[in-house]
Amino acid sequence: MKPYLANALQTKAVAQSHGISAQKRYGQNFLIDPAVPERIVEAAGIGPDDFVLEIGPGIGTLTQYLAEAAGRVTAVEIDRNLLPVLADTLSFWDNVTIRCGDILKTDLQALADEENGGRPMKVVSNLPYYITTPILMMLLESSAPISSVTAMMQEEVADRICASPGSRIYGALSPAVQYFAEPVTVMRVPPSAFLPQPGVSSVVLHLARRKEPAVKTADRERLFAVIRAAFLQRRKTLPNALAGYAPLGVSREAAAAALEKMGLSPQLRGEMLSLEEFARLSDLLIPAHTKNGEQTT
Ligand code: SAM
Repeated sequence: MKPYLANALQTKAVAQSHGISAQKRYGQNFLIDPAVPERIVEAAGIGPDDFVLEIGPGIGTLTQYLAEAAGRVTAVEIDRNLLPVLADTLSFWDNVTIRCGDILKTDLQALADEENGGRPMKVVSNLPYYITTPILMMLLESSAPISSVTAMMQEEVADRICASPGSRIYGALSPAVQYFAEPVTVMRVPPSAFLPQPGVSSVVLHLARRKEPAVKTADRERLFAVIRAAFLQRRKTLPNALAGYAPLGVSREAAAAALEKMGLSPQLRGEMLSLEEFARLSDLLIPAHTKNGEQTT
């Protein structure tokens, strides 16, 4: 059987026969344009040797396409009411496992071990938009064997991820994602491709996970804290923004001195710094007595 769900007629029929409706609180917008799942499968480069983790299968629309192309698929769905629907719409494909749960509380390493012997997996999702950023950061920061993430998200978030320093939409997510992955825009998707239609346009991004992070830094946690601090108060100059973020424990003067050492003005705002510059700044801000983990004072 070929995938048959990606259209309004079938989606309505399935919803009606199972007595369900799209739950806004779970970010449920079901795909009704077959061109979109086809493109997602192609961009993710899914073949018969692949194991795919899908986040939020919904009624199984994208899942049908993934099951056709991949070796095996495991899909994690939070909405218990959709389980009987998925049992119905995926009954033809015997290579799909559905897990009921919250992806943000899922141990990805354990999932990869249990379902795929710890080998690499490709993550694919039409993301629930209310938790796009937490899911992306969880996937990228995870030490589980994830080789790529191909995901539909709000256009605004996707454009922010791909933005360059100095642009109005450059934000904390840009250097944070670029640290782990190389983002590529696959396609723009209008609200009319979903039922119900979301209030925003969408974009499919392909994030190929880097073998090594894009920059070297002595302390990754600290780098991410510096990035967070810089954009929490993005209208402030960097020394003020960093000094205003208590967890960093950095004074205004120390931050200004570090910027000057880099040949940068202390009047700069965080939105002007590239990932490389954030990494350098972060390393310069490590207190001398904790450098290399040794007490020097
Ligand atoms: N994949 C389907 C499609 O493309 O038509 C549905 C996508 S819909 C935008 C997002 C899905 O994620 C919904 O099925 C929703 O119930 C599910 N979801 C929401 N929050 C979740 C969470 N924390 N963990 C797992 N799934 C979640």
